[in-house]
Amino acid sequence: MNSKLKNKVVIISGGASGIGAAASLLFAKEGALVVIADLQVSLGEELVKKIQSFDGKAYFIKCDVTSETDIQNMVLKTIEKYGGLDCAFNNAGIEGESADTVQCTLANWDSVINTNLKGIWLCMKYQIPEILKAGGGNIVNCSSIAGLVGFEGSPAYTASKHGVIGLTKAAALEYARNNLRINAICPGVIETPMIERFTHGDEEKMNALRGSEPIGRLGRAEEVARAALWLCSDDSSFVTGHPLVIDGGWIAR
Ligand code: NAD
Repeated sequence: MNSKLKNKVVIISGGASGIGAAASLLFAKEGALVVIADLQVSLGEELVKKIQSFDGKAYFIKCDVTSETDIQNMVLKTIEKYGGLDCAFNNAGIEGESADTVQCTLANWDSVINTNLKGIWLCMKYQIPEILKAGGGNIVNCSSIAGLVGFEGSPAYTASKHGVIGLTKAAALEYARNNLRINAICPGVIETPMIERFTHGDEEKMNALRGSEPIGRLGRAEEVARAALWLCSDDSSFVTGHPLVIDGGWIAR
């Protein structure tokens, strides 16, 4: 066990799978008291057991980030369980359906924006007062390289991830003098269940994605989790309002 986040209480939304699960494990190994907030109950509970098996501290809360009531409950239960809140990694997100701007349905638009953008705003709305009570801390919001450039066939996803960066910057400025730093991360193509769903497990599509990464391979969830850890730790003490790109060079082209 290391100690970059020793005894820090951290909420990780979407913490049961992919990037969130890697962060839940890594943060717990760094001494954090991790609240895994996700829709997927069995995955979340299994991960809690895995963390407890190395004497890490974790607690699962079922939460739908599109629901204000669920988010209020998530923050309330965190305070009840661990006595406060220091950090949050607002990572829950969905890819939605592939469809261009004309074909995109209202239902797809609402579901992607509600999860990826409104969900992060609602999380911060209830997390920030508790982090301020604790004397400050850190929030990391999950954007994407789709927050920086356009992706054809994913208008709602692209808009939601651009929105996350704008929201992060506005909130970062609001709390910069309150010892609360708020940053975003922009992962490239990372090997997680989201990418498996996106390619439907088609090896040709996977190879095309690998080829699109200048580094020649997909990113690993742990590599993104380490960036989130850096932003939640004192190692990044002069960084706020920043969209940190972790993409194997994708955006450099
Ligand atoms: P994933 O599907 O493995 O994990 C997403 C998690 O979010 C799941 O556990 C899911 O249950 C949870 N979730 C979804 N909707 C939710 C809701 N309404 N309430 C609570 N939890 C919810 O995918 P991932 O690749 O690990 O994605 C994590 C984040 O990273 C997402 O925001 C995604 O947009 C972003 N991202 C992923 C990639 C990539 O290539 N995998 C690239 C850039 C950004």
